[in-house]
Amino acid sequence: MAEKTVVQASNFVRNIIAKDVRKGNNDGQVVTRFPPEPNGYLHIGHATSICLNFGMAQEFEGQCNLRFDDTNPEKESDEYIQSIKADVEWLGFEWGADAFYASNYFEQLHGFAVELINKGLAYVCDLSPEQAREYRGNLTQVGKDSPYRNRSIEDNLDLFARMRAGEFADGERVLRAKIDNESPNMNMRDPIIYRIRHIEHHQTGNTWCIYPMYDFTHGLSDALEEVTHSICTLEFEDHRPLYDWFIDNVTLPSGRRRPRQYEFARLELNYTITSKRKLKQLVDSHTVTAWDDPRMPTISGMRRRGYTPEALRNFCAATPVARSKGITDFGRLESSVRDDLDSTATRAMCVLHPLKVTISNWDADTTQTLTVAKHPKDDTMGERELTMSKQVFIDQADFAEHPEGKWKRLAPQQSVRLRGGYIITCEEVVKDSAGQVIELVCSFDKQTLGKKPEGYKVNGVVHWVSASHHEVVNVRLYDRLFSHANPDGDKEVDFMTYVNSDNLRLIEGAMAEPSLAHAADGERFQFEREGYFCVDKDSTKDRLVFNRTVTLRDSWAKKG
Ligand code: ATP
Ligand code: MG
Repeated sequence: MAEKTVVQASNFVRNIIAKDVRKGNNDGQVVTRFPPEPNGYLHIGHATSICLNFGMAQEFEGQCNLRFDDTNPEKESDEYIQSIKADVEWLGFEWGADAFYASNYFEQLHGFAVELINKGLAYVCDLSPEQAREYRGNLTQVGKDSPYRNRSIEDNLDLFARMRAGEFADGERVLRAKIDNESPNMNMRDPIIYRIRHIEHHQTGNTWCIYPMYDFTHGLSDALEEVTHSICTLEFEDHRPLYDWFIDNVTLPSGRRRPRQYEFARLELNYTITSKRKLKQLVDSHTVTAWDDPRMPTISGMRRRGYTPEALRNFCAATPVARSKGITDFGRLESSVRDDLDSTATRAMCVLHPLKVTISNWDADTTQTLTVAKHPKDDTMGERELTMSKQVFIDQADFAEHPEGKWKRLAPQQSVRLRGGYIITCEEVVKDSAGQVIELVCSFDKQTLGKKPEGYKVNGVVHWVSASHHEVVNVRLYDRLFSHANPDGDKEVDFMTYVNSDNLRLIEGAMAEPSLAHAADGERFQFEREGYFCVDKDSTKDRLVFNRTVTLRDSWAKKG
């Protein structure tokens, strides 16, 4: 094995693969796959699976296939396929020349089904879905054999051919594997392997009106692709004997290796839902605007929110791949985003809730250009220009008329520094008839540009913009999508009841420094003292829209 940089924290899957490679199993080759069903957009849980599967292939110089397990045409679409490809690519992984589709194997899978019939290992069953459910039993009760179980091979071949030819309606008949109706493992109780669906398929069009079941397709597709390590999540552990049964009972093209399946615990994040079906419910009910709504834990939502691929990869790499279930703190994901953005995001100032400040001793006709660094620790990012003028805006939150405790901002007769500029001292507070503070009159100390003040104390540094030189922008501040740490945890309560009704605050008319005027879609910034922000695709020529990606500190931990 060649020495490569370790991308993933040590885990049991890697240990197994490393051992196989060392022993020369599978000719020392490693083939993994990421096999989504194209029935929704990918979410943060999928990101861990992508990083693990592609990461292992990279580390062991093998191959990772992107394969669409597309056996459910009514729930699938090309939109989902395209979004999945875009997400995997954005995360930084390549799947070779072409993506794979289980539907490419429909002809071969059909052949396997016929082979099973010929071996007396599959039969056409006419039970209605309700009857079939009854016959199947449950966890405490063994199943019963279907009355159609002993049909002759000839009858089965004939009926299956007629199923394929479209002679029967949806649900009228199914093809089942003949295994063991008394098995304690429900998956082994004569599972359905083919069903009738008169529906167009996004890849195969109208070629088929019978479709293989996911369980029949998944393991055999791995085998056809000569996947060596089928890595999946724990809920598939009980399906493994079935996948093995199929692989054992059909004739794979000669020399085909046998895949081995290894299960790990799914990623569960608190305050988050990781189920495509439930995320679709949020979209369909217009609880969010789309799959890529920045509040969504989808990869596309997180991308739009401003998360970086590096941040997600680092998060996934640091997430233990384990057999034991656990809940990961959302704060860990955010801290990974902060870590990455801290070193890569350009600094800028944006005043979210403007309060006018008039500088009493500044000449009204004069402006001054101030040059400040785009990044405090990285000169290579260059500089940006601010304009100092007679009137500026600071944030309302940075002034208190009657400050309490250790007030680190502006107050009457107190001084603060305007970031990158002068020190100002508050001389007068102007109020409207309702007693609201609407303006401050301050003096500036012209000796203090880049220098310490002499003989007086400064409370702190505040961000600001010039009243005459700024860009008006809209800003979206997000809170958790769910108000409950485990929105999906209670079977009695619909997860939708835990949607946080206050998960988005829109600020129209925030004031950003002029350097932001030409910010591009997706560009990321740290708005000093306010957090990391990213330009949203809803921006127009006249008005930029920024999403707050994440706050500067973990403010949720305090609230929670
Ligand atoms: P969902 O329940 O969201 O629909 P799924 O498992 O049905 O998820 P698939 O499209 O079948 O979605 O998943 C593709 C791969 O991603 C599978 O190998 C699956 O095990 C893995 N995966 C899905 N969710 C998670 C998760 N939360 N953590 C880790 N891996 C996951
Ligand atoms: Mg699935």
